[in-house]
Amino acid sequence: MQDFAGRLGLDHETDAVGNVIIRKAATAGMEDRQTIVLQSHLDMVHQKNADTTFDFDTQGIEMFVDGDWVKAKGTTLGADNGIGVATIMALLESTDIAHPALEALFTIDEETGMTGALALQGGVLKGSIMLNLDTEDDTELTIGCAGGLDVTAHGHYTTESSIMQHGLKVMVKGLTGGHSGMDIHKGQGNANKIMNRLLYQLHQHFKIELGELSGGGLRNAIPRESTALVNTNHPDEVQTFIAAFNQTLQSEYLLTDPKLMISCEAQPVCTHVMSDTDLHHLICVLYACPNGIYRMSPAIEGLVQSSNNIARVQVANGQYTVQCLTRSSVNSEKEDVKDAISAAFALMGAEMIFGGAYPGWTPNPHAPS
Ligand SMILES: [Zn+2]
Repeated sequence: MQDFAGRLGLDHETDAVGNVIIRKAATAGMEDRQTIVLQSHLDMVHQKNADTTFDFDTQGIEMFVDGDWVKAKGTTLGADNGIGVATIMALLESTDIAHPALEALFTIDEETGMTGALALQGGVLKGSIMLNLDTEDDTELTIGCAGGLDVTAHGHYTTESSIMQHGLKVMVKGLTGGHSGMDIHKGQGNANKIMNRLLYQLHQHFKIELGELSGGGLRNAIPRESTALVNTNHPDEVQTFIAAFNQTLQSEYLLTDPKLMISCEAQPVCTHVMSDTDLHHLICVLYACPNGIYRMSPAIEGLVQSSNNIARVQVANGQYTVQCLTRSSVNSEKEDVKDAISAAFALMGAEMIFGGAYPGWTPNPHAPS
């Protein structure tokens, strides 16, 4: 990018981490317009086919044109964000496109942590309008975005020897799942929440013991499955209760999760189980912990403003971990959801761990256009 700017005789600078900024003056008659910052990222997701020999450190992508498409031989093309980079380069190179003063901002390392954008120093850019050209839809303008925060609750529990006679493996399966950002408004079931609702009822009606609990997977996926190993002295009644619970939930989730199946099968008794007090606390805290939509946007109809996904619940060997992904386009509200989750887990003395934070961007539909 430095060579490119040099060849065109354009002002350019490179910051400490390697972000490149290239400046181009307004074309004749556009001098009184506001400077526009155009941003794209220079890195790409580099993947190659198994049968392709390719060294991403030294080789350039082998592009070719196929009809209306630009493609790459045996590797990813890097259209994310090559399209944006190429668009800005075309403007910088052009002699026949009218434009105001431009500041082209090429950031490094978007894909593995946004370290380029995060390290960009304040005051480097002069423009006050920025268009980020990293998008998949060229007919849409984005005016806001949710920020995120990984919220994890972790702690130890008291393990006791089982005093019950029968073991059961309880399973929640067949949920639709989805992306915790894109699909959170659709009302799909969360396997961790459904399992917890069942455990709450079983604990109230039958006094079960919990040996292990495992539900969900990736933090940004609405969990589709959960499995609990429980002990009981009333296996037949519990099985009948779960069958009825399955019917109730299948009817509640008929439209969103038509393949939902809640079932159980006999298995050996878990010899070591969570103490009854700790189990009571865990079930109540998970019930109280917010999940799904927290608040809709008052500015844009149908837009979720804040949400939480209870993505993964792990209980085994005296330790529990609950992983959530919290999102909001309003940073103060993201803190509110974080505190709501933390407050619930404070009731059982959990240690809270926060990570992976990135800021939200609150939409302003009345901004000048
Ligand atoms: Zn990108």
